[in-house]
Formats: sequence, structure tokens, C-alpha cells
Amino acid sequence: MARPKRKRRLFRRRKVCRFCADTSLSIDYKDPRTLRFFTTERGKIIPRRVSGNCAKHQRELTRAIKRARTIALMPYAATLRHY
Ligand SMILES: [Zn+2]
Repeated sequence: MARPKRKRRLFRRRKVCRFCADTSLSIDYKDPRTLRFFTTERGKIIPRRVSGNCAKHQRELTRAIKRARTIALMPYAATLRHY
């Protein structure tokens, strides 16, 4: 074969923390629409290495999501169909 498949593992876009880049975006536990952006469709929090958030904002985000869960704004575990 002329064109072997090549894994593009070295391709790395510089991820910048969304909350640092956009100061108008705030982390608010009362705003599940923003928080949902950082959870999987099953309600799990997306890890920092995937989301690209900085440590400070990831920590705030985690806290907000956990808080939102306790007051039932966010799911602990959603079924795929339900989502
Ligand atoms: Zn940040």
C-alpha cells in the first residue's frame, strides 16, 4: 500500500482553558448548561487533560458540578437514552 495509515498522535493543538480565555464565562453551579459542557453524556466530569481547563478552573468546575448534583440540577449518572 502506498499510503500507510499514520497515527496523528503528535498533533496537539494548544488547548487553552475556556474560562481563562473567556472572562464572561463564569462557573456557576446554578447554570447546568455551562456545566454540562464539561460532563460526558452520562454525567461524568470530563478530565482536565481532555477539556483543557487549567487547574484552578477545573477545580472550580468540579466543585460547581458536585454542588449542582446535590441540588439535582445535574445528574450523577444519566442513561444514554435519557439524555
Ligand atoms: Zn482557567
